[in-house]
Amino acid sequence: MHSTSTIVLNSESLKSNIDFIRSSIGPDVRLSSVVKGNAYGHGIEAFVPLVESCGVDHFSVFSADEAHRVHSVVSRDSTILIMGEVGEHGLEWVIENDIEFFVFDIERALAALTIARKLSKPAKIHIEVETGLNRTGFNKPGLKQLVELIKISDGYLVVEGLCTHYAGAESIANYVRVQNQIKKYNKFYQWLVSQGITPTLRHTACSAAAMAYPKTHMDLVRIGILQYGFWPSKEIFIDYLGKIRNKEKTDPLKRVISWTSYIMSIKEVRTGEFIGYGTSYLAQQNMSIAAVPVGYAHGYSRILSNQGRVLVNGRRVGVVGIVNMNMMMIDISDVPDVHKGMKVTLIGGKDETAISVASFGELSNQLNYELLTRLPHDIPRLIK
Ligand SMILES: *Cc1c(COP(=O)(O)O)cnc(C)c1O
Repeated sequence: MHSTSTIVLNSESLKSNIDFIRSSIGPDVRLSSVVKGNAYGHGIEAFVPLVESCGVDHFSVFSADEAHRVHSVVSRDSTILIMGEVGEHGLEWVIENDIEFFVFDIERALAALTIARKLSKPAKIHIEVETGLNRTGFNKPGLKQLVELIKISDGYLVVEGLCTHYAGAESIANYVRVQNQIKKYNKFYQWLVSQGITPTLRHTACSAAAMAYPKTHMDLVRIGILQYGFWPSKEIFIDYLGKIRNKEKTDPLKRVISWTSYIMSIKEVRTGEFIGYGTSYLAQQNMSIAAVPVGYAHGYSRILSNQGRVLVNGRRVGVVGIVNMNMMMIDISDVPDVHKGMKVTLIGGKDETAISVASFGELSNQLNYELLTRLPHDIPRLIK
């Protein structure tokens, strides 16, 4: 079937990012590749085997359905970890298939124990503790209950890990909060050990924490955005540049994804005409414009109306008017040799003309995460 746009994943760039992450965390820390949100829009089925070919054998997802998709493409020796929702029905499949999962309340622990006994197969759990994010995780009283349950579980609850998540490690404004979280986490760990429970893996770090706070590395780091070639925030990038010495101060990360479509139709617009719905764009001179068959239904955000930039024949050109559901208009007045069917790069390109995700109208880095994960599942993913 014909698709109106194509996503290409660059395996060389990925390899280079993984090498960079490994050099940052050192040889003794395990790397878990975070592939929730359809591998940040890159596509689980296409992305996971590529990461595996870089030697990564640990994957973290949000939910049981994502674990299912990773499981269907991953080699047997790799570990899959669910950091979020499993659901009553998911648990049975999860335990049966050695999928590991976060446990953050006593109800889930009880459900896991019941199913593990029924299947005669231990549940591999990672205890999530509350250290300050106030999202999910055990407080001390709940943890005490859990420990009692583990002690009478006849080995059906195996503690593979002890984990937590930081409340904004990408911003220096949260420095004190993160430091407190690290302290709280370490206390929980020591207390568990005193209770005779030693989790196999201690893990707390996401990309930002791994870069900015080396002591969060512990036994394993859960890395999402960095492996795709984006910094979690400008602050983290600047912090990194400040720390490296005697090296070229360049960006070591390489964008893995590119996204292209094509020119569907071309027309001329005269001075004084409005372009698209409403009155948001007024032609100030005679213009050539082109329709591109990608809109917000394909993940190209309406925020990019009159703001987005795309590449056509090596030139950066602007989106004119409102991004529609299935289409957008671009200004091709200054592009030489334009014709129908010509490639339009929505994300990608080289050097100073490159269109990165963040360069979408100077929007914040948080939008990298959002724009990427909104890329629809049904756009074909090709590997380069
Ligand atoms: C998403 C997520 C990560 C990875 O975050 P990045 O900033 O993309 O590295 C790590 N841990 C948890 C619990 C997450 O939800």
